[in-house]
Amino acid sequence: MRIFCASIATETNTFSPLRADLSDFKESFYAAPGEHPETPTLCSAVFPVCRRRAQEEGWELVEGTATWAEPGGIVNAKTWDGLREEVLDQLRSALPVDAVVLGLHGAMVAQNCQDCEGALLEAVRGIVGPDVVIGATLDPHSHLSQKRTKNADILVTFKEFPHTDFVECAEDCVDLVARTVRGEIFPKLHVADCNMIEVLPTSREPMRSFVDKIKDLEGQKGILSVSVIHGFMAGDVPDMGTKILIVAEQAQDSAPSLADDLSQELFSFRGTTRPEFLSPAEAVERAKAAESGPVVIADVWDNPGGGVPGDSTILLRTLVEQKAFDAAVGTIWDPMAVKTCISAGEGAKLKLRFGSKMSDTAGPPIDAEVTVLKIVLNATQDFGTSIVPLGDSVAIDYLGITVILNSNRSQSFDPSLFRNLGVDPQSKKILVIKSTNHFYDAFVPVASEILYASVDGPYPNDPRTTDYKFVRTDIWPRTGEKIS
Ligand SMILES: [Zn+2]
Repeated sequence: MRIFCASIATETNTFSPLRADLSDFKESFYAAPGEHPETPTLCSAVFPVCRRRAQEEGWELVEGTATWAEPGGIVNAKTWDGLREEVLDQLRSALPVDAVVLGLHGAMVAQNCQDCEGALLEAVRGIVGPDVVIGATLDPHSHLSQKRTKNADILVTFKEFPHTDFVECAEDCVDLVARTVRGEIFPKLHVADCNMIEVLPTSREPMRSFVDKIKDLEGQKGILSVSVIHGFMAGDVPDMGTKILIVAEQAQDSAPSLADDLSQELFSFRGTTRPEFLSPAEAVERAKAAESGPVVIADVWDNPGGGVPGDSTILLRTLVEQKAFDAAVGTIWDPMAVKTCISAGEGAKLKLRFGSKMSDTAGPPIDAEVTVLKIVLNATQDFGTSIVPLGDSVAIDYLGITVILNSNRSQSFDPSLFRNLGVDPQSKKILVIKSTNHFYDAFVPVASEILYASVDGPYPNDPRTTDYKFVRTDIWPRTGEKIS
């Protein structure tokens, strides 16, 4: 068996003040053929999985490029054209192959393409022809177009949000591809639209039981894989929204009705899936009143993982207003301030402007005298088994609050982000982080309590009022239907 694998991935917030080009991919993750590390990244776990299976089963594996850019703004046309052609050229020279396995995200939008993954799968199909098996992994925060389901044989998404199962997802995808090549299964894709836009964390009910249920369905009655496309509300594209995606044996004619049933069940959850969202003032008040710490306050929308800059100062200002100085903030993205602090050196006191440089919606920047506590070049944080770059970073003292400034945008995944900058997370009463839900599993062991703060900023967090141009209007909650 001869398999080609490659990965091009990012998540595009079409409303973001940022723009993305090749430097964003190279800064986040770029591995030329053969140079993918042993450890997986979120969207490239198919590489280590294919390598292991190739070794165990004697497959010939041809590796293409693997690259990922931290979620951001619209991708530059030249960058998208260049990365796509790079991978397609690698595939052409790898021919003949029995299968193509792609690690995708599924919410990439370029200046010249609203459905990059659909276009890539279509181009791959055009090169390999109808008989070669094409499989891909997708992030559930993606847009499922017909172009994708028409051109792929196997599509599998991460089931968990936080995405703790990205390696498992790659294992499932590669396994189904291999079984298809060997003629053991004859897969067909079925999609049912849930007609809604919703945030669907799986660390809580009702989604927890729903994910357990779809896992139990797999392997029974010809159902090979069940995925939920959550959708990504910051992507203004026609296919945005929640969908059920089933891979089933061709002969299995009950799959479409199963997809319909699951989509209706998911639709019935609308308006009930999110945790309690507090205002910044409420969140800080509750954290101050807690008997013990650290109370983690997640700034859910100023999450660089959702494509915004991640430089909002609103929660930090609220800490100061409420005199909650026994706190640490990780992180505020500000490469310019980081550079200035590095030039000043550890221990230096200086007047610094930091935060809120990229939009007029993330609060005013902060002008203050600060002390540089720690400088770490090429800082990182953990995310499961993968290592996430934060770029050159500094910890500064601002009125007793420790603020971590970083230069590679990244959401807050793990308490190691504080430890690596010299801050013991357990020594603080309050930890402010920027993440919607990926932080959850890693912060539970250190947190006395977790609070979610909904802070307006550059992220379009209410589909009822977001100025969409391409998203359908007949999709909840744009339909105006109220949930009691
Ligand atoms: Zn995601």
